[in-house]
Amino acid sequence: MLLRTARVGLRISAGQRRRCFGLLVAAGDVWACALDMNRWRRQRGLRPIVGYQALCRELSAAGPGTFGELDSVGARSVLRRYSDAWFATAKRRKDGEETARYPRRKRRLMPVRYYHGTFTLDGQRLRLPIGRGSAPLWVRLARQVPYPPEQVRSVTLVYEGGRLFVDVTAEVPVTTYPSGQEPDTHRVAGVDPGVIHPFAVAGPDGEGLVVSGRAIRAETHLHLKDTKHRQRAMVQRAPNPGQAGSRRWRKIRARQRKLEARHKRRVRQAQHEAAETVIDWAVARRIGTLVVGDPRGVLALKAGRRHNQRVQAWRIGHLIRCLTDKAEQAGIALVLVDERGTSSTCPACHRRVPKPSNRNFTCIRCGFSGHRDLVGGANIARRDPGGTTTTGNPFPVVITHRRAGRHLPGAGRSRRDPRRSPHHGTAPGVPWPAVARPTRSGESLAHHSEDQPTPPPQRGKRWLTRH
Ligand SMILES: [Zn+2]
Repeated sequence: MLLRTARVGLRISAGQRRRCFGLLVAAGDVWACALDMNRWRRQRGLRPIVGYQALCRELSAAGPGTFGELDSVGARSVLRRYSDAWFATAKRRKDGEETARYPRRKRRLMPVRYYHGTFTLDGQRLRLPIGRGSAPLWVRLARQVPYPPEQVRSVTLVYEGGRLFVDVTAEVPVTTYPSGQEPDTHRVAGVDPGVIHPFAVAGPDGEGLVVSGRAIRAETHLHLKDTKHRQRAMVQRAPNPGQAGSRRWRKIRARQRKLEARHKRRVRQAQHEAAETVIDWAVARRIGTLVVGDPRGVLALKAGRRHNQRVQAWRIGHLIRCLTDKAEQAGIALVLVDERGTSSTCPACHRRVPKPSNRNFTCIRCGFSGHRDLVGGANIARRDPGGTTTTGNPFPVVITHRRAGRHLPGAGRSRRDPRRSPHHGTAPGVPWPAVARPTRSGESLAHHSEDQPTPPPQRGKRWLTRH
């Protein structure tokens, strides 16, 4: 059994929203109380109270109703979080990690977790437990929970980027297969994670899979550009140090956070899709071992801010984590290996050749030629630490192409990304020029004579609203 979490949005009224926020604020108060209490104790030379049981005793001493509508179940989940964080730090410090720090920051909102048996999940309706004396709090989920209700173990109320969510954690069994269709550990595929192609997989029997991530990259690029514009506008409105920000400033900040959260959600979703594509492909081919090239050792090297930006936007940690989780659930073994040199070694003659600058790999020694990312995948497959595949797979000749991030705006023709300025020509359905609308300087376009051809819109000129 494995634990898996899905984030589900909420469809709630203003009143329910207020009550949910009340719970999160109360949880933040619980957290702050634990911090304050232990600071007070430290100043007096007393031992801090960090054990979960001891903290719960302090909570019950505070009496019911101290934390608004938050009941003891919800408050205890915060204490559990505090206790776990404290002991995790203690362990890291004991292991010699001097920089590990104990919980010290207060937060206005803290997530509240409710364990099995304290909440009720009825289809898309969820009842959160509430302190005694308050009306029951039912909220509506934006979608069906992707797990059978009897497998759900906990729900967590969280706030991110201006939105409330519920993280639903469930126990999920490892997939079982009919006999003869289960993954075979001797069938190995090499996976090369990349920026343009999140995953390039070289499997057995000369089959390969390339998952394109151009939509993710476009999203990252547009978001970065958009953020720069917004930051430029923010500089003028920023309050001086020590001054309270204006309402307008607060609104700008809120919008910034909201867009940042949306971008993160979009990229994560696309990475999940990419990983799922790989696993589905592997299951259909009975691949039992995925050897994944881990580039994180190489990435630590300093290589300039542009490179750093690109690496950071890649979110490689999340990408590999997605694949690891899904492989585990599908019953496929996954090994991480050092990917150094795999993209510059010829899969045919195993000699080092200069790294190709374009998508195509060509060996200057034996004349081999193939897809660059699949070359990486094929070489990674041979690095199986088990050492079972000395011969390796034949280089893929049948290549499946899939795309990740199809939900992203701009990935399809039906949904235009509002952040993107049109390249040239007019958008379909928009007449050019708009007949009676005066231009910004006040002059009308009406003075253009009929036979004079209308000038095409300037390249890169913004003539649609950006948001
Ligand atoms: Zn060669």
